[in-house]
Amino acid sequence: MSTGKINVSVENIFPLIKKFLYSDHEIFLRELISNATDATLKLKHLTSIGEAKVEYGNPMIEVKIDKEGKKIHITDQGIGMTEDEVKKYINELAFSGAEEFLNKYEDGAKESGIIGHFGLGFYSAFMVAEKVEISTKSFKEGSEAVLWSCDGSPNFTLEPGEKQDRGTEIILHIAEDSTEFLEEGRINELLNKYNKFMPIPIKFGMKTETLPKPEDAKEEDPAPTQEVDNIINNPNPAWTKQPADLDADDYKNFYRELYPMQFEEPLFHIHLNVDYPFNLTGILYFPKMTNDLNQQKDRIQLYQNQVFVTDNVEGIVPEFLTMLRGVIDSPDIPLNVSRSYLQADGAVKKISSYISRKVADKLNSLFKNSREEFEQKWNDIKIVIEYGMLSDDKFFEKADKFALYPTVDGKYFTFEELQEKLKGNQTDKDDKLVVLYASDEVAQHSYIEAAKAKGYEVLLMDSPIIGHLMQKLETSKEKLSFARVDADHLDNLIKKEENQISKLSDEEKETLKKNLEEVITDKSYTVQLEAMDSDASPFIITEPEFMRRMKEMQQTGGGGGMFGMGAMPDMYNLIVNTNSELVGEILNTKTAKKRERLISQSIDLARLSKGLLKGEELTNFIKRSYEMVK
Ligand code: ADP
Ligand code: MG
Repeated sequence: MSTGKINVSVENIFPLIKKFLYSDHEIFLRELISNATDATLKLKHLTSIGEAKVEYGNPMIEVKIDKEGKKIHITDQGIGMTEDEVKKYINELAFSGAEEFLNKYEDGAKESGIIGHFGLGFYSAFMVAEKVEISTKSFKEGSEAVLWSCDGSPNFTLEPGEKQDRGTEIILHIAEDSTEFLEEGRINELLNKYNKFMPIPIKFGMKTETLPKPEDAKEEDPAPTQEVDNIINNPNPAWTKQPADLDADDYKNFYRELYPMQFEEPLFHIHLNVDYPFNLTGILYFPKMTNDLNQQKDRIQLYQNQVFVTDNVEGIVPEFLTMLRGVIDSPDIPLNVSRSYLQADGAVKKISSYISRKVADKLNSLFKNSREEFEQKWNDIKIVIEYGMLSDDKFFEKADKFALYPTVDGKYFTFEELQEKLKGNQTDKDDKLVVLYASDEVAQHSYIEAAKAKGYEVLLMDSPIIGHLMQKLETSKEKLSFARVDADHLDNLIKKEENQISKLSDEEKETLKKNLEEVITDKSYTVQLEAMDSDASPFIITEPEFMRRMKEMQQTGGGGGMFGMGAMPDMYNLIVNTNSELVGEILNTKTAKKRERLISQSIDLARLSKGLLKGEELTNFIKRSYEMVK
């Protein structure tokens, strides 16, 4: 037996490891199974090139709990280690990983990122074990088994071992404060989280499998069963295969496998596959999206060579795509660094823009090849696309060709089609294209009808971020403005020629305005006299586009906070058609009481059509109406 001291500059590294990785103790299992997998894959490679003269067979990795002995065993049938290799890889090299961690820690990199994702490798075993043994035997001919043992101090022992077959067994003597890992349920949870798609089968106990009944079995006979290895992983997940080898059902089934609790089918998928200038595979899914931006429970999972790393892909996937689901696997993503470093990393930036481009290409081909289907799915995916157009200029350029603008009549236009369609009728006198839209078909019904009566198209734009997108479109395209149908009177929204001639003299207008303002005491209304068609509505309540949009944008974050105040008040214009017969009558009514009633009634009607009449005011209106029809 030989003993030795691991070359440690700090007196005792293990308590430090334990302390600083507190929140993530559970990763020890992922690290040890990764090592077992690496050792197995190395052997596979060596046998395939003829360098290892052993039978590769069907190796697996086994995880076993010994509750009484307070031990966990992780056994592989990989290349194993010779005595020299243990000295080199475990005593010297593996330690350098741990030391690197400490250095980073001392540099003040104590961000949650580094703590959470630092691959400490083999030494992470000491986060849960008071003593670790490595019983190993190399595949090399004539190798002797060795047993390495270390109790968490820098002192280790190395002696001849008893292992008969090739491979490595790691034995963790679980520490008093980590006995949770002796529970089968806890280990199952970890295996399911980190190892579900690792490339070598992982056995954890046995399970009972039901076999088909033999032909001559009687009805009451129970089906025969057998005990089989409980393999917890799928070593060949869909994303590791070629798209040509998968059909639509394979993709759907894999979605189920990833998110067993999701009952909705994904809308479509994108298979990522690139090997230059970085390595990346994966499958992203577009789930059915709601208007609730915060609703995203099941997230994209990041893997490194089929080992689960995190489901926090912030910085790696463009932010607008974090609403998608699926898997990304890349050996090239530096995992052992903090998030802020990650975001500045060149390779990571390339990955992010590759993903964004792939998603745009996929959407574009869907749009081109099956427009009808694309239109049907638009409502469920628009949030992602609109968000992407807002946050990523390159994506905007691409998406501008396939982003759809639905009308209240269920037609879908691209922006270019929309421009073509509207330019004849909806270009105003200043040569500006005015796009009318509604955000709520029911509430804005009368305004929509009025616009349609003039032959105008009305879009239905109801996403929460649409205000921001309109703003973006207005600034990136020339001579374009969006106006909600109830933002002003139509003749004002799309001003065609100079104003109509007013039937009223200036003096009459003065009087009318005074009369109106005597009745309308509510400060949120501004009276505005307009000479319009005599058969247009006498009174219309509008909500100026600018104020309303700023308010909406403020609610969804971003550009709206420019006024530096909390909630902005509601502001309405009361547009009075001075050419309408009713307004003429109001002006000619000499008795103040009667005039007041006419005005109140008219304004209430206008408010009613905008959904603003409620409570006591509505009750009064109804009472007044009955009196008037008597
Ligand atoms: P890494 O896996 O990043 O190399 P680790 O600290 O996890 O770092 O492991 C250090 C080294 O120990 C490995 O590179 C490998 O050479 C050796 N090793 C660890 N576990 C095994 C194992 N199960 N079989 C063979 N070699 C192993
Ligand atoms: Mg490792």
